[in-house]
Amino acid sequence: MIKMLILSLTGQCNFACKYCYAHEHPAEIMDVATAIAAVELAAADGQAFVLQFSGGEPLLNFPVMQEVICYVCEQGLPAIMQLQTNASLMTQERAAVLKAGQVGIGISLDGRPDINDRQRLLPDGQGTCRQILNGAGLLATQGIATGITAVVTNENVTKLSGIVEMAYYLGNVRRIGFDLLRAQGRGGEMAAPSSEDVWQGMKEAFQTAEQLAKQTRKSMLFSQIERVDTLAKSQMQGFAHCHAMNGEAVFVDAQVCPLVWSQLRQAGVCR
Ligand code: SF4
Repeated sequence: MIKMLILSLTGQCNFACKYCYAHEHPAEIMDVATAIAAVELAAADGQAFVLQFSGGEPLLNFPVMQEVICYVCEQGLPAIMQLQTNASLMTQERAAVLKAGQVGIGISLDGRPDINDRQRLLPDGQGTCRQILNGAGLLATQGIATGITAVVTNENVTKLSGIVEMAYYLGNVRRIGFDLLRAQGRGGEMAAPSSEDVWQGMKEAFQTAEQLAKQTRKSMLFSQIERVDTLAKSQMQGFAHCHAMNGEAVFVDAQVCPLVWSQLRQAGVCR
């Protein structure tokens, strides 16, 4: 049973973040046939699954994303669709498609502009905050709620409360997730934050969120707190909550082996 399908629509990206590991993914653009075949595979047992559009920057392959969204909606498939994006390539038309397909949107942003622009960079070395905020603002004007995902590094760990401030400033952010720097790709060349700094940075971020929630009467969700709550309430042992550790997650990129598809077709799992 597949509970999570990650479609890496392309390994290409218009950003060149200091810690990026996705640039190691195939740069090819995934075609529609591959994307639909993967979705059919995940939907074959009729059970709900998370369908995440990923990359690289998935908006660079928006035509295929749009085809998949339409397919899922037309077929009434039980897919919970999510997009992780740097938002810089968002347009009114794309936002409308995402809204119609009820696609959850996570925007990558690492802090206030001065902090974000130390690690999220354009290929020419300039910062990206302006581009990210343009896309996020465009979604806000269409009334589309989003989440923010921040990568926690040595550069921003003492300024995590700035991410909370940015979320309230944007107005349409409902959830924040913090991802620790992965020592993969370019991330392997950066120093990881210490556990003490992470503890302190998270504490300050939660305190800032509490203060802003009181002032605005709008509370912010934190992915990490939700996850801990779920684990505390459940009877699950070990990594039972993790789709990847249970063999229930599938990652498909543009270079997926043709042999795999031919075997799946022969087995009648997909077309
Ligand atoms: S936004 Fe940054 S981290 Fe994400 S794929 Fe592009 S370069 Fe890599």
